[in-house]
Amino acid sequence: MPKRIVIVEDNAVNRKLVEIILSKAGYAVSPAADAEQGIALARSEHPDLILMDIHLPGMDGLAATRLLKEDPATRGIPIMALTALAMKGDEECILAAGCDAYLGKPIRHESLLEAVARLLQARGEADART
Ligand code: MN
Repeated sequence: MPKRIVIVEDNAVNRKLVEIILSKAGYAVSPAADAEQGIALARSEHPDLILMDIHLPGMDGLAATRLLKEDPATRGIPIMALTALAMKGDEECILAAGCDAYLGKPIRHESLLEAVARLLQARGEADART
């Protein structure tokens, strides 16, 4: 069974890019264009990882992350924030919301695959301990 990844990103070009990179690497990808759709997918598909854009129309990625991390049904899913923010303090803000990691935009093929593999591996080790 391929690992399933939900990508929440409102920019269609970025969403498609991430989808193509991850699909080619053998992951099963479920795309969502906003936070509400992403949360619904997280609940219905129980993905192995969520990639979460921070700037979204309506509910933003940080609010969506807080909701997912408050819900016992979804709190175990690692979340990696995708953000163009590079201001000092943003990293703390992102991690405080419950994100497990973050990746700066523009998305680079190699760093995306590395970061995804690292989080999935960390999750696998955590599962093995329980
Ligand atoms: Mn966005």
